Amino acid sequence: MSQQHANNLLPYLPDLGKFPKEKIIGITSTIPIEIVFAAGYMPIDLNNIFICDASPNRMVENAELVGLPRNTCAWIKGMYSAVKKHGIQKIISVIQGDCSNNQALMEVFVSEGVKTIPFAYPHSKTDTSFLHAQMEALAASLGVSYMKAEETKKRLDSVRSIIHEIDRLTWEENIVTGEENHLWTVSTSDVMGDFGVFGELAGKFLESVSRREPIKHTIRLGVIGIPPICEDLYSFLSSLGVHVVFNEIQRQFSMPYRSNTLVEQYSRYTYPYDIFSRLEDIQEAIQQRRIHGIIHYVQSFCHRHIQDKIIRKNIRLPILTLDCDRPGPLDGAMRTRIEAFIEMIKSLKPEMLAVVK
Ligand code: SF4
Repeated sequence: MSQQHANNLLPYLPDLGKFPKEKIIGITSTIPIEIVFAAGYMPIDLNNIFICDASPNRMVENAELVGLPRNTCAWIKGMYSAVKKHGIQKIISVIQGDCSNNQALMEVFVSEGVKTIPFAYPHSKTDTSFLHAQMEALAASLGVSYMKAEETKKRLDSVRSIIHEIDRLTWEENIVTGEENHLWTVSTSDVMGDFGVFGELAGKFLESVSRREPIKHTIRLGVIGIPPICEDLYSFLSSLGVHVVFNEIQRQFSMPYRSNTLVEQYSRYTYPYDIFSRLEDIQEAIQQRRIHGIIHYVQSFCHRHIQDKIIRKNIRLPILTLDCDRPGPLDGAMRTRIEAFIEMIKSLKPEMLAVVK
């Protein structure tokens, strides 16, 4: 979630100071939060509290001042500072299915006395027994039964269904902006620590957009890759007449597929697994959402940049790879590249655009 976007959501953010410290669990990436809620804890996505901070750049710099390398992804440094700033004492860290930087970050936390609980996704999404064992282990470490977490899933499913409707209204009825879509879907990683309040606010938002006129922008883009760290990507695209109708990974955080069990849900969630499951999801969205072009967002120093080659080989649409390091507005070079990309799409012959219209 970017700073500017976060400002719109600030009233939605929990005031962590009001909650008992021992009830807060920081998460470094999307994990089965149903287990955390079932155990009576409040999951807080460290990425969100970093990027929603009044000075996210300062948080990155602070992490560098205490020794985290400059040539490491800014999300890692931001999460480190978020834990320090908010005095978070317990963390669930994804040690397989996210990145090795996260694993090293967990070791830093261990060395500094923060309690950490590792969680690993299986290498293959078909290895459901591994995933089930990891969930059982997580439930046991939090002192709750796995079955109670399955019951909590039903309550979260109804909240998630509101977000799925917000997503549908973005691409099918064109009455929700790409930025709003980004905010609501990205926030499902922790549902702001309280799924009751989050569901209520999402329901109010749904109600508020029902009488809107459809967005008239002619170009429909998909933004794929991890959520952008830059703050004005969506507003800049909108100023160029672009409607972002697909936010790939953020939508995945919302668990977009119908599922009966937690194991089914988290094995269909594409982010922790190989690029090929993500590609299937992206290809389907391109057809269904009538997408004209793709922005592949890549975080500086992130291994996922390597997958750009596979994405370009498999997606037959114009693709702009956008690399960004730190929080803040798009710089001049990025703006120029985006403008040129949109001009190029606009210049495509109408019959070429018709293929995906
Ligand atoms: S952006 Fe890449 S390197 Fe950074 S935390 Fe995410 S997966 Fe890891």
